[in-house]
Amino acid sequence: MAIQLDNQHPLHSSTVTRELDQPNPTEPRPQGIRSRILLSPPHIGAEEQIFVREAFETNWIAPLGPNVDAFEAELADYVGTQGAVALSSGTAAIHQALRLLGVGPGDRVLCSSLTFVASVNPIVYQGAEPVLIDSDEATWNMSSAALERALADMKREGRLPKAAIIVNLYGQSADMLPLLELLDAYGVPVVEDAAESLGATCDGRASGTLGRFGVYSFNGNKIITTSGGGMLVSNDTEALEKARFWATQARDAAPHYEHSELGYNYRLSNILAGVGRGQLRVLDERVNARRAVFERYERALGGIEGVAFMPEAPYGRSTRWLTALTVDFAQAGVSTQDLIARLSAENIESRPVWKPMHLQPLYRHCDYYPHDEEGASVSERLFAQGLCLPSGSSLTQQEQNLVIDILKDALKK
Ligand SMILES: *Cc1c(COP(=O)(O)O)cnc(C)c1O
Repeated sequence: MAIQLDNQHPLHSSTVTRELDQPNPTEPRPQGIRSRILLSPPHIGAEEQIFVREAFETNWIAPLGPNVDAFEAELADYVGTQGAVALSSGTAAIHQALRLLGVGPGDRVLCSSLTFVASVNPIVYQGAEPVLIDSDEATWNMSSAALERALADMKREGRLPKAAIIVNLYGQSADMLPLLELLDAYGVPVVEDAAESLGATCDGRASGTLGRFGVYSFNGNKIITTSGGGMLVSNDTEALEKARFWATQARDAAPHYEHSELGYNYRLSNILAGVGRGQLRVLDERVNARRAVFERYERALGGIEGVAFMPEAPYGRSTRWLTALTVDFAQAGVSTQDLIARLSAENIESRPVWKPMHLQPLYRHCDYYPHDEEGASVSERLFAQGLCLPSGSSLTQQEQNLVIDILKDALKK
């Protein structure tokens, strides 16, 4: 396949052509040339191109259009909220949620420490200060014990947080009900960072719909993707309308360009929303495939001394977006770093779990509440011992067997 692009620098157009001439990654490869096994590559379904083609044919090549409207309606319907706003990223969606909650300079915002940096950065975009909360052993997500101490301290200091961002890691919802009860008691509204948990459930509801606002991401590595994109969901349709206004450069109703508020260019393009509509149709299949990947790893490796898989909490169903486990060096005789190096030598991608935010140079100065009052951190242990394995829904059994064999060999005492 080659594409002719008019008015392109010859170098650029030849680059494009060369990339498109690469073998189709979904076709079987010749023996002996195995491509890299990735942690979580995109997995495109059958209908994305139909919606994208429609966008081209109707010339809706803009950050608005019928695919955007339909993607919002279809996602809101899937998760069961009153509405949704499609945005250019999950990070943008967290940012909008915090602004909707009135977070500003001098405010404090609680956030899970064990997460990707994008959960926390929008707090600083708003000029506020993060207060970081440790994880619970049972869920790897926000610890109620640590949260309770943080809220009591902040109340004593007369500086209650303006909002809390609860992250749902690796496809599993946090234990939302006790966390919400605590935060409700102090009048603190919740943003659920469900970037990694679209398709999961918590107490019979869709993960991401239990807080005031929920956020999903469609980045290239997420369970479904638009290459890049995000969604803000809520039952507060008035607030969503405001987010839609801000995200479209905050253009007041006037024939000329009139602005009375600060806005952003945060909307999702109609082309990418077309990809999202196709992806949403295969979400349930993707969840089942990722869960099957997890189960195969657990069956093969779960019995090895020192190896413990991320537990599935009893209150909901995880998507197992990434298969995550811990390896205790003292028992297994091998470190996660060794395992990552062994896999990498065989052209297989794996990674440590997220490095907690309270250990990051960027956020080291922030207040931090460990799970254990004596100071022992669950998130620090998970970071030291945690490993994420190739978990894509397109991972073949043959590829997975290879990963398993390498790990078994490395873990053999
Ligand atoms: C991916 C991710 C985000 C950011 O989403 P983007 O769409 O990449 O901006 C936020 N939080 C968590 C936990 C994530 O994994």
